Amino acid sequence: MPTWNPWHGCRKISPGCQNCYVYRIDARHGKDSSLVSKTGDFNLPLKRDRAGAYKLSGTETVYTCFSSDFFIEEADEWRPEIWRMIRDRADLRFFIVTKRIHRFHVGRPDDWGGGYENVTICCTAENQDRADSRLPILLAEPIRHKSIICEPLLEALDLSSYLTCEIEGVTVGGESGNGARLCRYEWVLALREQCVRAGVHFFFKQTGARFEKGGKVYWISRRFQHSQARKAHIDYPD
Ligand code: SF4
Repeated sequence: MPTWNPWHGCRKISPGCQNCYVYRIDARHGKDSSLVSKTGDFNLPLKRDRAGAYKLSGTETVYTCFSSDFFIEEADEWRPEIWRMIRDRADLRFFIVTKRIHRFHVGRPDDWGGGYENVTICCTAENQDRADSRLPILLAEPIRHKSIICEPLLEALDLSSYLTCEIEGVTVGGESGNGARLCRYEWVLALREQCVRAGVHFFFKQTGARFEKGGKVYWISRRFQHSQARKAHIDYPD
């Protein structure tokens, strides 16, 4: 899965950030995650190999800015250039996850219109408070492809009023790492039920490390968190 991290580092702004994997990984190398800086991959979509072909081929979804937040303030001056690259690589699909949808409008390109066809903006909603704050903004903004991710899922959520025909999918997952907070299967199933009722795609991505099902709490190692979720067979549609 191609990943493009044009900048690295972020500041925590939300309960879902508590055990941020960027901070956990950087801590192993003594790196300060709160410093936001451009990476060597800043212009990756424009890079070519020796034969002159783009390094990122035209059939791929590019997971964009997964070691920061695309809309963080420190990147405001860099984002216009990034938007130009995204527009120029219309053959690629760019998938952007954010906890800062309230800053989506900052530096938006003049030719954005109703949204670039090759961009999906995925808004994080880890608890009801953040869902009620962010999802009305996601729905109101001119974005061609919108989706929601509830990860780490921290409590039972009612998203039913936000699951309009504009939302292309809801992804759900627990939290990883030694300090992971509990994710309950009943919360996952309740979100699935809301998606089925609304006709919105639902994807149970991973269980997280600390998962409760049927009154029992399981510790699940990182390498089994995705496969255990797949074994539940609850994605919608199948
Ligand atoms: S917004 Fe995302 S990348 Fe930034 S601190 Fe929170 S979880 Fe980490």
